Amino acid sequence: DARSTAILVPGKLHPHVIDRLSHEFELVRIDRSDKALITPELAAKVQGIASATLISAEFIDALPKLEIIAHFGVGYDPVDAGHAASKNICVTHTPDVLSDEVADTAIGLLLNTLRELPQAEAYLRAGRWEKEGPYRLTAGSLRGRRVGIYGMGRIGLAVARRLEGFGVEISYHNRRQVPGVAYLYHPTLLDMARAVDTLICVVPSTPETEKTVGTEIFTALGPQGVFVNVGRGATVDETALIEALKTRTILAAGLDVFTNEPHVPEELLALENASLLPHVASASVKTRTMMADLVVDNLLNWFTAGQAITAVPEARDIGRRR
Ligand code: NDP
Repeated sequence: DARSTAILVPGKLHPHVIDRLSHEFELVRIDRSDKALITPELAAKVQGIASATLISAEFIDALPKLEIIAHFGVGYDPVDAGHAASKNICVTHTPDVLSDEVADTAIGLLLNTLRELPQAEAYLRAGRWEKEGPYRLTAGSLRGRRVGIYGMGRIGLAVARRLEGFGVEISYHNRRQVPGVAYLYHPTLLDMARAVDTLICVVPSTPETEKTVGTEIFTALGPQGVFVNVGRGATVDETALIEALKTRTILAAGLDVFTNEPHVPEELLALENASLLPHVASASVKTRTMMADLVVDNLLNWFTAGQAITAVPEARDIGRRR
């Protein structure tokens, strides 16, 4: 019976997850994912975790009966999934249900960056339209742009489909070419950066992607270059980005993600050619509720049918053999 199965929630989590877990399982909460908070009583009973926070190898090792970690979000970089898989512990995430919302946000951020819509609204609200006349013409425009998508996965493809409607040229870079996708493929990120003027980043944060967007890429994009990041801050060399924006090596950047969230460097805040959002790409009531349901459904499926619904690639072969 799932109701006698203990699920641990470390830290904050969406209220719909908490509500459903409290009906379906024995819900246990602690303040944060710190192994010092694992009492012998918890260690003896916790079989599952639902979380949106850091789950380290140490924390996993402190829970000997752990079978599954259900992460809230598609990017599961906070979870040590390799270590979990090595111990036959399943990790799940929330793919697909958020792709459209994140792609919508990427397009919004791109338009905000190019057409300075937030700045224009601030101008109106400050009474400057009436006093000083029309807002300045924007240096940026989406017209005639060549857009390169770094990460043509679930979200990247949703962004590309939307961009088709804008009549821009679309290309992409992945490690592998995607079968059945007709957009131009670039085998390296640098080749793509040289061929486009607009780079949209939506790759996961991995050791391989860390700081792959830096000075060389910005220089290749050139003075009309625009960089949009809805992936992860870790993919970008933030210091190099600030420098590229200051020196106008590129025209502008639109960012939903940062290296050290929720901290955003003062230098970035001071830049007029940066459009900044507080990691809100999937943050609508509708999409976050679907993500919450998928977290709980993964746990329910695991403990009742012995199989997760959306396991991460590292855990694809792990079923419930207990
Ligand atoms: P997918 O796994 O479907 O897509 C990721 C793509 O990145 C794949 O096409 C993959 O192709 C490519 N990729 C991975 N590693 C590399 C690499 N080293 N070099 C080049 N390309 C690479 O994931 P989703 O589209 O569902 O999500 C992508 C990411 O977006 C998430 O991991 C998350 O970090 C971020 N995200 C951010 C949100 C926000 O709120 N801002 C919300 C949701 C997601 P290949 O394997 O062939 O290289």
